[in-house]
Amino acid sequence: MQAWVVDAPAPVDAGPLRRVEREIPRPGPRQVRVRITCCGVCRTDLHLAEGDLPPRRPAVAPGHEVVGIVDAVGEGASRFAVGERIGVAWLGRTDGSCRFCRRGDENLCTSPLFAGWDVDGGFADACLVDERFAYRLADALPDEQAAPLLCAGIIGYRALRCAAVPPGGRLGIYGFGGSAHLTAQIALAQGLRVHVLTRGEHNQALAAELGADSVGGATDPPPEPLDGAILFAPAGELVPVAMRALDRGGTLAVAGIWLSAIPGLDYAAELFDERRLRSVTANTRRDGEEFLRLAERLGVRATTVAYPMAQAPQALADLAHGRFGGAAVLMNQ
Ligand SMILES: [Zn+2]
Ligand SMILES: [Zn+2]
Repeated sequence: MQAWVVDAPAPVDAGPLRRVEREIPRPGPRQVRVRITCCGVCRTDLHLAEGDLPPRRPAVAPGHEVVGIVDAVGEGASRFAVGERIGVAWLGRTDGSCRFCRRGDENLCTSPLFAGWDVDGGFADACLVDERFAYRLADALPDEQAAPLLCAGIIGYRALRCAAVPPGGRLGIYGFGGSAHLTAQIALAQGLRVHVLTRGEHNQALAAELGADSVGGATDPPPEPLDGAILFAPAGELVPVAMRALDRGGTLAVAGIWLSAIPGLDYAAELFDERRLRSVTANTRRDGEEFLRLAERLGVRATTVAYPMAQAPQALADLAHGRFGGAAVLMNQ
């Protein structure tokens, strides 16, 4: 089979992805093998390729928004049948026994395995997944629509909960790419007022099209104080900007796995009045199941740009340079 791998991270325009021929993997205990039909491209894949996140194994295949068909099952794997369509997401496995797993916070597991970072992911013809960490997908959802839900959607949903906006409250969204455009749909469907602060014409146009209450530039003040905000852009300099936009008691949730340096905060203007700043780290399987159900019920639609799997480097470069709105997906057909 073929796979795109990262062995020497480099700026995206230098071509850090390399296509290799490798043996099709055999599923181990409790694993299933997925014949990949589609894999979403997430900003985390870009951070991995460029070395912001150092690869955790040599020649790892990125990709953690994987949709495909089960074509082999390992010993003791009984959850999915051969021929079933499933989704593979970022959280590939946890130990189930550390103090965080035991208290229900498996997103904080001290020895997790992540798809497309610790284990080979979906920029390939096939991959393996522990069946306990895979997702069933609604039949009505086309592959291309399902893929971005698996990380962009799930992490955005967790970030939305972390931003703790009360019913009918005011949410700020900083940065408007794959994850934000799905999260905004949930927030709007739930009756929040949504203010989008982002650079990029594509992103601003998409936010307006989805019905955001206002759309402004990344550093513009929103038209009203915010009860909560989510920072999707990997830009630490926006932290003080977003903190200033919060109302008393408001929370800023930083959704990304990587952020550039955060400048010093002015205590009175940017933190006092019980404003909170928090990060969002991975997700639990419960977040994933909840989000997928909610996305189906609320009719969340991903805006996607499809590339053949052979053009993975182009998709990653286009993401880096903000050349499209919504989410890129790689198709294997
Ligand atoms: Zn654990
Ligand atoms: Zn991701």
